[in-house]
Amino acid sequence: MLEIFDSHAHYDDRQFDADRQELLAALPGEGVVGILNCGSDWKGSLATFELCRQHDFLYGAVGIHPGNAGEWNLQVRQQLLEMLEHPKVVAVGEIGLDYYWDSNPPRGVQQEVLREQISIALQHDRPVVLHDREAHGDTMSILRLFAPRGLRGVLHSFSGSVEMAREAVGLGFFLGISGVVTYKNARKLVEVVQEVPLEHLLVETDAPYLAPVPFRGKRNQSGYIRHGLERIAAIREIPVEEAARVTAANARRFLGLA
Ligand SMILES: [Zn+2]
Repeated sequence: MLEIFDSHAHYDDRQFDADRQELLAALPGEGVVGILNCGSDWKGSLATFELCRQHDFLYGAVGIHPGNAGEWNLQVRQQLLEMLEHPKVVAVGEIGLDYYWDSNPPRGVQQEVLREQISIALQHDRPVVLHDREAHGDTMSILRLFAPRGLRGVLHSFSGSVEMAREAVGLGFFLGISGVVTYKNARKLVEVVQEVPLEHLLVETDAPYLAPVPFRGKRNQSGYIRHGLERIAAIREIPVEEAARVTAANARRFLGLA
């Protein structure tokens, strides 16, 4: 069985309300050895905190997603700090910049909330899980500024160019490869998987979103990562077991679990 470490999932999402506990309980039987569940708002961070205390193989990232940056206040900040004291809360995320949706908070607000959360990650020596949608330039500016100060992290569901991938990896960052790698139009991502050292790749679902082929459009779950791993293995011309083993080891190193 393949060793699967899902570096980005949202099992707190309401799409899992009907069968969350049964589904999570079945995942180790599908080879899932680890999951990083990422909060994207205050409620989701709290639910993540609960989930990682209930399941041995599930770890938590807590944070406020750029789409919810309007939620940010001193009380939320204080509560995130308190959750980060728990040993199963191993990262700050999902945080970042999202310039795709016009309905999102203004860019200035997103940037300020991102910087606040980066400073929390630096204070607590935790990696960050970064969301970057249509914000590659500003995301790279943040990486260039904070990597020399010790910031570590992953660019989740990486969607940039090979050049951006090379620079991010040069700054010590990991790239999260989602089910998108199985899609027909994934030419740019295939090139990234080909060019970047395997030691810098993580695999992820972004469940319930981004299900790989042949489940595209359905609800995603961590067991489906084997389809992404098969594609990565084919691109790199290595056995799928090796792709699974190395990306799982990368996830443990990334999260300080090794
Ligand atoms: Zn996500």
